[in-house]
Amino acid sequence: MNSVGIIGAGQMGAGIAQVSAAAGYRVFLADVSLEVAEKAKADIGKRLSRLVEKEKMEAKAAETALGRIEPVGSFEPMASAGLIIEAATEREEVKRTIFAEVGKVLGHKAVLASNTSSIPITRLAQASPDPERFIGVHFFNPVPVMDLIEVIKGLATSTETVETVRGYGKALGKQMVFANDAPGFIVNRILLPMLNEACFALGEGVASIEDIDTACRLGLNHPMGPLTLADFIGLDTCLEITRVLHETTGDPKYRPAPLLVKYVEAGWYGRKSGRGFYDYSGDTPKPTR
Ligand code: NAD
Repeated sequence: MNSVGIIGAGQMGAGIAQVSAAAGYRVFLADVSLEVAEKAKADIGKRLSRLVEKEKMEAKAAETALGRIEPVGSFEPMASAGLIIEAATEREEVKRTIFAEVGKVLGHKAVLASNTSSIPITRLAQASPDPERFIGVHFFNPVPVMDLIEVIKGLATSTETVETVRGYGKALGKQMVFANDAPGFIVNRILLPMLNEACFALGEGVASIEDIDTACRLGLNHPMGPLTLADFIGLDTCLEITRVLHETTGDPKYRPAPLLVKYVEAGWYGRKSGRGFYDYSGDTPKPTR
């Protein structure tokens, strides 16, 4: 396999494109339009330049990696890709529409993967061209920094499909863990209830944004507090994952915190929108409450 298709060029898709290109894969990068994919490539270029400035990457390697990324305005060029990774917005209908389209070009041996944070892989596989060649490949944010990939097998996922992804993850130098298809997989099953609980605590006036974050940072020895982390992940994504945990298990312990719902309704998605629990317009993030 020497080329990879990536659909969705947001925080995650762009990161996956960057590490795939750095590992030597040719990358076709798509989003809702060619312009959005081109802008994502330009942003990847800036991030690679920063790595060069910090002497974490050779200038030539950065240039070569960037040159391997081809923004595309349709899925057709992905017909030659051995692996296509969908990293679009965490909405099932969005992903289903993409799978229907990509099914028209997916090579007959190629693997289709989703970077979904929470939507059941077995269910998504039903919307894919071939459930045996469908799998969850869950990267972490920021992709170039975070070493983990959770690989999630749907009920029908074949051993060959797992092996294709194992080879790809190995080429990227990532550590892989393998999970069965259960709500939230491993990490988000454990993480999201904590982030949601931090939103409940804030909404109930237990403490301020800063004190909730400081308490977890110092009291739990976490590198960042839960509200900072939620902003970093994206509050819209956090809400979608929490809703999936709630809906798929029916367990009320997963119900989304009203404050989280309110922030998303306000369009305060966190870092990516410039405001979430913190305001990112200045040099240092400032708590918004
Ligand atoms: P994002 O909002 O930064 O990016 C999503 C991108 O998908 C946007 O650029 C959007 O234009 C694009 N998109 C929407 N509809 C599309 C379509 N029909 N065709 C092509 N592109 C389309 O979100 P993100 O944080 O990059 O998350 C993407 C996926 O990765 C989600 O499934 C999310 O759950 C998952 N994920 C996110 C994180 C995280 O920490 N943010 C971590 C692991 C996995």
